[in-house]
Amino acid sequence: MANPMSAASAPYRPRRVPQRTCVSCGLTTAKRELIRLVHGPSGAVEPDPSGKRPGRGAYLCHNPECWERATKKGRLEHALRTKLSTDAREVLLQYAAERLAAEVP
Ligand SMILES: [Zn+2]
Repeated sequence: MANPMSAASAPYRPRRVPQRTCVSCGLTTAKRELIRLVHGPSGAVEPDPSGKRPGRGAYLCHNPECWERATKKGRLEHALRTKLSTDAREVLLQYAAERLAAEVP
């Protein structure tokens, strides 16, 4: 009988996909399934679809409600350790609206 403990540490498990967590709903999934936002050196908070820009990053899933909640309830600010201006919030929500609308299943 296989011991569940040893099965969990099997040496030949598939290559691990980087996991990230949506700062709004807590969904943990593959990094590429989430959208990165970066608080870059300029101080601005911007979407980072490439996921490669320098700065503190936070991730949101593709649920527009998460973008609303994260920008309005301070979760994003907390994750990025910054304050979002009304303009920055607008830019992010605008980005989300366009980006998510383009994703017709
Ligand atoms: Zn989410």
